[in-house]
Amino acid sequence: MLRSVLSSAARSPSWRRLAENTAVVRPVVNRFVAGAGVEDAIRVCRELAGDRLVSLDHLGEDTLEREQATRTVDAYRTVLRRLGDEGLAARAEVSVKLSALGRALPVDGEKIALENTRLICEAAAAVGTMVTVDMEDHTATDSTLSVVRALRADFPDTGTVLQAYLRRTEADCADFAGPGSRIRLCKGAYDEPGSVAFRRKSEVDASYVRCLRVLMQGKGYPMVATHDSRLIDLAGELAGRTGADFEYQMLYGIRPAVQEQLAAQGRKMRVYVPYGTEWYPYFVRRLAERPANVAFFLRALMNR
Ligand code: FAD
Repeated sequence: MLRSVLSSAARSPSWRRLAENTAVVRPVVNRFVAGAGVEDAIRVCRELAGDRLVSLDHLGEDTLEREQATRTVDAYRTVLRRLGDEGLAARAEVSVKLSALGRALPVDGEKIALENTRLICEAAAAVGTMVTVDMEDHTATDSTLSVVRALRADFPDTGTVLQAYLRRTEADCADFAGPGSRIRLCKGAYDEPGSVAFRRKSEVDASYVRCLRVLMQGKGYPMVATHDSRLIDLAGELAGRTGADFEYQMLYGIRPAVQEQLAAQGRKMRVYVPYGTEWYPYFVRRLAERPANVAFFLRALMNR
């Protein structure tokens, strides 16, 4: 219910304008977003890189102009160059959304997104790091996996994301559990219909466990993206049994104490750090994950 309402809010231009123009919203947003510019991203990366790994996300999605997609490529090239200059490339990769790179363009969208992502992969390889392709709503799953397969022919370390809430994902995990594959397993953040996705939390969690088992028994590199303590413990146990090399991943601003704790235990812990001015849809998805965040946000709006 909350997710459905907020999913509409995420697409609403008037809610977006209200949130973007209300100063008291900024501190709430800043909990989840590193800042507007590339130097904010580099600063946060430097702060985290002592004990954690990082994946930088230049915020933006659903681009409908080719020039905007090209600007997104340029933004990634810039941040990758800065990671190289700062000696951070061994600790930080980048995450990209195909819809920010042109997939939604009316003509040749998928082809343009593939070419643009290829340019980012080249820039990443040039400084010694890699790219993970985020997963968006279920209408884009096949297209994303096909782009990732094409990229992996030239950049075998390109990773992607599978969402446990989709009914298809256990089978996708089996397909992507081969040598060299890097799969980030998350629960899924979009408001999906019951025809394609599990809707109850208990079903999503059970699916996550099944998918995690497949990945941990496979030959690839599982990236366990969750803040759920039960699943974090289970990943550790499964890896202990199978000997799988893996990493934990969490979002910037969420359960930082647990991030530090896992890193202190010697676990590989990567933080997904978004930055940029297009924070609104990302921020609304974070609100949708936790009712307490919505209450906090509404209080800030009412007190403005
Ligand atoms: P939940 O059961 O939702 O949460 C477990 C606990 O974590 C909660 O009890 C709470 O303590 C804490 N928590 C979770 N979310 C929040 C929040 N927003 N604010 C405060 N506390 C919170 N989804 C996609 O669909 N596509 C992607 O490409 C994608 N990439 C991701 C990358 C990373 C590194 C991570 C960590 C998540 C990504 N997600 C992505 C989001 C993911 O699908 C979930 O929506 C999100 O991680 C919440 O699920 P959870 O596993 O933490 O479990």
